[in-house]
Amino acid sequence: MEYNASDSFETRLQSIESRIAAAAERAGRDPGDVQLVAVSKTFPPEVIDEALRAGVSILGESKVQEALAKASQCSSADWHLIGHLQSNKVRHALSLFSTIHSVDSIALLEDIERIQEEIGRRPRVLLQVNVSGEGSKTGFNPKAMRDAVRTALSLGNLDLVGLMTIPPWSPDPEQSRKYFRQLRELRDSLSAEFDVGLPELSMGMSADFEVAIEEGATFVRIGSAIFGKRSAWKTERTPDSDDYI
Ligand SMILES: *Cc1c(COP(=O)(O)O)cnc(C)c1O
Repeated sequence: MEYNASDSFETRLQSIESRIAAAAERAGRDPGDVQLVAVSKTFPPEVIDEALRAGVSILGESKVQEALAKASQCSSADWHLIGHLQSNKVRHALSLFSTIHSVDSIALLEDIERIQEEIGRRPRVLLQVNVSGEGSKTGFNPKAMRDAVRTALSLGNLDLVGLMTIPPWSPDPEQSRKYFRQLRELRDSLSAEFDVGLPELSMGMSADFEVAIEEGATFVRIGSAIFGKRSAWKTERTPDSDDYI
């Protein structure tokens, strides 16, 4: 189950893919409805190309500049942004990312709408929700979500596809379950109220993706379980860091 550095990349990827499929089947879901976002932040282009050769198709990065620098040296891939996006980086972000999981303010929705028109790229957008209300986390307060969805829809041309969350850190994946369930229930109620699809739920990381799939995840964002331990910058996810590496 644990990351084993002596396994080949293919072996680690296959093991994650079979765990994804098993979790989907346990929940009576089609494994094809769960997509793996391989979180390649801090890993160099050579490692990313190895992942692409092994069959990864979606890469997740949390920093715009880092992703742009690496993408120019990698084979083509579907790049997703999973980290906080600053307004002054929207233009760069739209030049690379097909999907932004981490939209966390109304101002950012407005920036994306304006700039996508200018540069002719229309990313898929997910709204990040701070389901637990933890002070250190970015994301919309669940109570602000009706306004956020109303604004996104009123902007007319945004491709809003779903919601994303990061639960509070815990060594026990079962502790994440209630937050994943709350995100799904929030999606269901917004979807009914506004009569919009919101099909995507981006939730679950290396430590808790199986629980997330049982609760309805369609994107799981998995880094260390396939790429190994990250060494650059901040080293570990801690209970009180949000922009963790
Ligand atoms: C780093 C990161 C991940 C991947 O974390 P792992 O525990 O290594 O799988 C997933 N989602 C977000 C938002 C991240 O920043």
